[in-house]
Amino acid sequence: MRREEDGVSGDCGCAKCEQVLQLYVDRTLTEAECREAEAHLAACPHCAGAYRFEDALRRYVRKCCDEPMPFELKERLTALRTAYL
Ligand SMILES: [Zn+2]
Repeated sequence: MRREEDGVSGDCGCAKCEQVLQLYVDRTLTEAECREAEAHLAACPHCAGAYRFEDALRRYVRKCCDEPMPFELKERLTALRTAYL
């Protein structure tokens, strides 16, 4: 095992890292995993950039969801969702 594969080198580029990032942004990691992700973000500019993007995206989506949705749109979305269940 080469040491740089741990992602400490600053350029991990591994798929697992992106997966963890998704979970981290969604706040579904355990506390230990969260700390691991944070440590990696601090050491890896690539992931830090990806995290900023994901975080901003979610904040944007959340903001949109906070705004009252037109009743008609809500109805249509509900109909769509139940159609796929
Ligand atoms: Zn990384």
